[in-house]
Amino acid sequence: MSKAAIDIHNLPYADGDFFAFEQLLSAKEQDRLAEVREFLAREVRPIAVDCWNRAEFPMELIPKLAEIDLVSPVRRQGYSNLFAGILHAEVTRADTSIATFMGVHDGLFTGSIEALASQEQQDAWLPEIYSLKKIGAFGLTEPLGGSDVAGGTRTTARRDGGNWILNGAKRWIGNATFSDWVVIYARDVEDNQVKGFLVDTKTEGYRASKIENKISLRTVQNADITLDNVVVPEFFKLANANSFRDTNKVLKVTRLAVAWQAVGQQLAAFDVARRYAVERSQFGRPIASFQLIQHQLVQILGNAVSSMGMMVRLSQLEDAGEAKDEQSALAKAFTTARMRESVALGRSILGGNGIVTDFEMAKVFADAEAIYSYEGTHEINTLVTGRAITGISAIV
Ligand SMILES: Cc1cc2nc3c(=O)[nH]c(=O)nc-3n(C[C@H](O)[C@H](O)[C@H](O)COP(=O)(O)OP(=O)(O)OC[C@H]3O[C@@H](n4cnc5c(N)ncnc54)[C@H](O)[C@@H]3O)c2cc1C
Repeated sequence: MSKAAIDIHNLPYADGDFFAFEQLLSAKEQDRLAEVREFLAREVRPIAVDCWNRAEFPMELIPKLAEIDLVSPVRRQGYSNLFAGILHAEVTRADTSIATFMGVHDGLFTGSIEALASQEQQDAWLPEIYSLKKIGAFGLTEPLGGSDVAGGTRTTARRDGGNWILNGAKRWIGNATFSDWVVIYARDVEDNQVKGFLVDTKTEGYRASKIENKISLRTVQNADITLDNVVVPEFFKLANANSFRDTNKVLKVTRLAVAWQAVGQQLAAFDVARRYAVERSQFGRPIASFQLIQHQLVQILGNAVSSMGMMVRLSQLEDAGEAKDEQSALAKAFTTARMRESVALGRSILGGNGIVTDFEMAKVFADAEAIYSYEGTHEINTLVTGRAITGISAIV
């Protein structure tokens, strides 16, 4: 075959799914994945770098995200957890900030309502949440309470007749500069337990200010929140959020989703680096013809595929109702470590162009840092796994 006859962008493995994991999805799920992929290529990827550079969230995207209907694929739409994971990786592959917007609204916020609200509360709130008419945020982390927030929640909730009064501060809360609602986790001064409250962001005493100057996930609007005698009616206390053990039910599932983000992030690095390597020439030849560049591309692919293999199995366990906290923890720790190596290799393959966002890779590289640290840092997830295999906690 002559060189000209090879279509370098449509080689069998150009999509990075080297072991055909997507074939594990049902035909209906594969069709849906193709539909969402087409949407992401049309509506998300073309605007992603510009939004990231300006550190602005594309509000005009929200009605389009509502139309493609991505919220609650498992519980509401009946898809498998495996499909939900591959879908989330695919959104990440198009843009990690938009995936994080969805991860916060869908996984953390909607997940809190689905897991911890009563049926009556769910019936009242979920329709507008599913249709993105109301945008949500998840307020757990605090200025002084990060990795130790389970025992270190300082925000307080005090019952006052038929109301609760919230006081305190939250930090890093995604979507919170423009969200309609935020689930705030606060310590009940009566019994010292962490409880969950649905707070309308228009309530007096609630204030959210944008965290500026981020080097990662710049499109995501993270906020510092202050709560100054915020009054929450009893109906807005999540009925089944009565201790941090309850909050953990949400985090176990979202940790799994973040590990899937690490897969998507590596597929994005593979996409951008592979394309660049076959198109860029030095010494009169495509840089993809150099053995060291091929080695780096294969390292990215191997990292992505091994991460995906782990995630496929974990999602199958989740589908069987058998996934454990420590398995999500190992998955998050392992995939994010592989991700950090993959995006650094991808950045290197682009040479100098790897440090300007115009070529996409710099955004992929920088976004990996937030994923490495949020939803339980790499270190904390490593120690959760270490505790499971030794019976000894090294966390405190
Ligand atoms: C972009 C972004 C979005 C986020 N979105 C949200 C959100 O929507 N809602 C929300 O509630 N939170 C959110 N977070 C917060 C996130 O979950 C925290 O950043 C994370 O839990 C770590 O807490 P911290 O940043 O306070 O770090 P710290 O807990 O202060 O940790 C600092 C360092 O110390 C290490 N460390 C801490 N304790 C131990 C230990 N026992 N052993 C070993 N090492 C340790 C950590 O691993 C880390 O390396 C977000 C964060 C980011 C960066």
